[in-house]
Amino acid sequence: MDYRDLAQRLSRRSRVGDRVAVAGPEVGVLSVRASLLAVGFLRTELVLHATGMEEIRVRCAHCRTARRFIARPGAAVPCGRCGYRLIVHHHFSPTHAAYLGFRIDAEDHD
Ligand SMILES: [Zn+2]
Repeated sequence: MDYRDLAQRLSRRSRVGDRVAVAGPEVGVLSVRASLLAVGFLRTELVLHATGMEEIRVRCAHCRTARRFIARPGAAVPCGRCGYRLIVHHHFSPTHAAYLGFRIDAEDHD
């Protein structure tokens, strides 16, 4: 889900001193957080509460698309766009609200 529209509407209506509280599954909370930061909210204006951590977003390093998976870092997942089998790295991008996924056999190819 893309939260940019919601973030932009909140940004237009907010005033100095307003705070935004976000609660829900981690994957959604982090996606909302990235959208809010992208439209100009400050980290100190956000109150976040994750209620579940089963699902994560993984962004493919090869085609730059992100999808949700029930997985944790270290797991292998398929990229739905380029078809590569990806290893989920521990690196998390707050900007993309996603873990980095790269080709599981990347070192075997140029
Ligand atoms: Zn891909």
